[in-house]
Amino acid sequence: PIEPAELAAELLGDDAETWDLACALPRDLLVDLGKRGLLCAEVPTRYGGLGLSSEHNGELTARVGAVCSSARSVLTSQGMAAWTIQRLGSRDQRAAYLPLLTGGGLAAVGFSETGAGSDLSALTTSFTARGDSLVVDGAKVWVTAAAYADHLVIFGRYGDGAAAAVIPASAPGVTIERVPHPLGCRAAGHANITLDAVRVPAAAVLGGGGLSLPLVVTAALSYGRMSVAWGCVGILRACLAAVTEHASVREQFGKPIGEHQLVAGHVAGLVAAEQIATRVCEHASRCWDSGSPEMVTATVLAKYVSSEQAARGAATAVQVLASAGAHDGHVVARAYRDAKLMEIIEGSSELCRLMLARSALGPGR
Ligand code: FAD
Repeated sequence: PIEPAELAAELLGDDAETWDLACALPRDLLVDLGKRGLLCAEVPTRYGGLGLSSEHNGELTARVGAVCSSARSVLTSQGMAAWTIQRLGSRDQRAAYLPLLTGGGLAAVGFSETGAGSDLSALTTSFTARGDSLVVDGAKVWVTAAAYADHLVIFGRYGDGAAAAVIPASAPGVTIERVPHPLGCRAAGHANITLDAVRVPAAAVLGGGGLSLPLVVTAALSYGRMSVAWGCVGILRACLAAVTEHASVREQFGKPIGEHQLVAGHVAGLVAAEQIATRVCEHASRCWDSGSPEMVTATVLAKYVSSEQAARGAATAVQVLASAGAHDGHVVARAYRDAKLMEIIEGSSELCRLMLARSALGPGR
């Protein structure tokens, strides 16, 4: 049987430039990828998923990321939604929701708000129990894939604690509006969501709610960080391929530019960046697969290192291709814009550094 990574790359084809310029992915392609279990490939087979390990899914994610960071962003959101349901949901909720996500339904995850970016303890979206119903009020911003989503996993305050709930995107009171002109991952369907007295069954609250906010958001964010980190490996692989090809064929001063030592130095830097990102991701995924207590810190490290390497590596790639890569839609131009955003999402580089320092300094710091 064809490898999931191979299959995903084949289905994506070579239209990423067109999608970037059009700021849209074909919805039927996303649904097809979803139905084949490729958008949340770690979901166990009993729920219709592929049951891949974190490392195997990482390679799939890198492969998708090398082709199209917008598609990879949709994959990250779908995977985060599935992981949140797996981690926080009851057995009945897993059985009800996960097959939707492996059956062609698309999902997005909303935690950020205007006043709650890095500091999620400031979030104000509220869940209120009213008999058998849950009433949701609030507004989420910059939710990746929300423009395509059928299901929204929304984080909010619930009683004295926090919770996540699964809300149909079509529920009365839900408004989804595209973020205009995003810097990168332009086809990822980022949107702002308003939830105005949205009423869903109380059973939509994953695990019954009443959990601590850090516990609720860490489940989703950890998966998102791992996925973004592997996506950055893909960005670096795409940049390395574009750079080695260009540096071998483009001649200036009577020889291929790759034979000029300063350009060769850029190539070597990209080789190192790709290796560093791959190794740190492999380590983190192995921690996930073995259930190591190091998992959370290894994931933060992977996201931090991979995104910084990708942002720097993509800038190097644009430098080497020069005018040949300096137009919107070109693989290195997309990488340059897309990678920058990876240093911001799922915990910015600064937040990752604080978490790494805290982990090194010990509890209470
Ligand atoms: P702020 O929190 O305002 O931070 C601004 C700057 O201050 C940053 O450099 C930050 O690192 C720094 N900073 C903040 N606090 C500290 C501190 N304590 N110490 C040091 N530095 C600090 N949200 C969702 O809910 N779902 C999504 O799917 C989603 N997708 C996104 C996709 C993209 C492309 C983007 C750009 C954003 C997305 N977001 C999403 C929102 C994202 O999670 C936030 O942008 C991110 O958490 C940062 O919040 P902020 O933009 O408000 O920046």
